[in-house]
Amino acid sequence: MSGTIMKNQFDVVIVGGGPGGSLLSLILAQQGLQVALVEKQKQLERSFRGETVAASSVRILDQLGLLNRIADKGYLTVEGMAMMDKGQTIFTLDYDAFPGTFKRAIDLPQPHLLSVLLEEASKFQNFTYLNGCAFESLIRDDAQRVIGVEVSAEAGQLRQLYAKQVVASDGRYSKVRKAAGIQAQLKPVERDIIWFKLPRPKDWNDRGKLLLKGSSHVFIIPTWPDFLRVGLNIPKGGFQQLRKRGIEAFVEDVVSIAPEIAPLVREHVRSWKDVTLLDVFVASVDQWAIDGLLLIGDASHTVSPILGQGVNLAIQDAFVLGPLLTQLLRSKSTISAHDFAAYVAERKKHKTIVTNYQLKQEQNLAAHGWAATIRHYKMRLFDRLPIKYKALDRVLNYPATDAIARLAVSG
Ligand SMILES: Cc1cc2nc3c(=O)[nH]c(=O)nc-3n(C[C@H](O)[C@H](O)[C@H](O)COP(=O)(O)OP(=O)(O)OC[C@H]3O[C@@H](n4cnc5c(N)ncnc54)[C@H](O)[C@@H]3O)c2cc1C
Repeated sequence: MSGTIMKNQFDVVIVGGGPGGSLLSLILAQQGLQVALVEKQKQLERSFRGETVAASSVRILDQLGLLNRIADKGYLTVEGMAMMDKGQTIFTLDYDAFPGTFKRAIDLPQPHLLSVLLEEASKFQNFTYLNGCAFESLIRDDAQRVIGVEVSAEAGQLRQLYAKQVVASDGRYSKVRKAAGIQAQLKPVERDIIWFKLPRPKDWNDRGKLLLKGSSHVFIIPTWPDFLRVGLNIPKGGFQQLRKRGIEAFVEDVVSIAPEIAPLVREHVRSWKDVTLLDVFVASVDQWAIDGLLLIGDASHTVSPILGQGVNLAIQDAFVLGPLLTQLLRSKSTISAHDFAAYVAERKKHKTIVTNYQLKQEQNLAAHGWAATIRHYKMRLFDRLPIKYKALDRVLNYPATDAIARLAVSG
């Protein structure tokens, strides 16, 4: 590292330009605040990350006037899902049967979502996008309050970005969280997932499928424009072991559970370069805020992939935070961690509902032997009960937007 260190002052510095950080940047930029978004990647390409956006976030994107812009880039509407065991459908969800508007999830490459958020934010001169810049360290004052971040730009140049509030949205392995000394409790689940994509057959419908075989399962999710996203669970940490068996053995594992896609898998999955590993874990963080710093999205809570809730939680974190942070910046000279206490409690409620449901389903999916037989009949019974929509509505359509009014501070 050499040369002069550039210094800049902002109202808010956001580290991490995923769905959470990008949406928050847009909302704050619209309010005329000086916002810097620091993103370590130069490009937006993010294969296999957050491709399903749940209905409650679709509703938010529509409310913000962004859904049509995203539609221009392209997305696929998901109509529902089915769980199958031994060739029988044992559980179905038809998204149109949920109450309210925007009942359906959408599936799209994450760059479609991010590019719209960033293009909209870039219309504001008070928004600065620092892509290709990686967070290095926190800047603190004598009282240990976070007052900015140090980031490294291209050519190793350091920049110091000062802010009235720093927001960390740098994802599941958050470096900001570590630098702040905030601990995350990692709860590994019993599986990891290997994802890959296949061309979608013309007669395939727009519904997701979960195919079970004892404790093994394959997800098949239609995605934009004409692909199937396929995931096979493997034992936790078992990727190296799997690689030793060879790609052909992996292909046959998939085919033994999902024979209907056998020719496609054999034709398109030829090497380990064709697949992506998702290390599945649940991370809970007790402390989301210290003076000057707030964590949102995966940095504050990493969830399992069940029902595609990671992007949803990140979007809702940002959507609920935007108005509150704007009000705090306008009404207070110094914002403390305590000012976010009600926000954190509110968002933890949503996260807890999602995580509790997912952990039960993770156990359900890991069942084998007699437990898998019990699962078969339990899911068939649950499928016949209309209450299934009420139970899942809480998880899929948590009304986080109501929180905005509850959290409003007096000016
Ligand atoms: C393989 C895979 C598949 C997934 N599929 C789904 C799905 O279908 N649906 C769903 O809802 N969720 C899915 N998820 C989870 C989902 O991607 C996340 O929950 C969601 O993206 C979280 O958003 P975020 O904004 O909090 O963080 P992220 O999207 O993780 O964004 C964090 C950003 O911070 C940047 N960053 C990291 N470190 C630094 C640094 N030091 N300096 C600067 N920038 C930094 C990263 O480059 C990234 O852009 C998946 C995750 C993975 C890994």
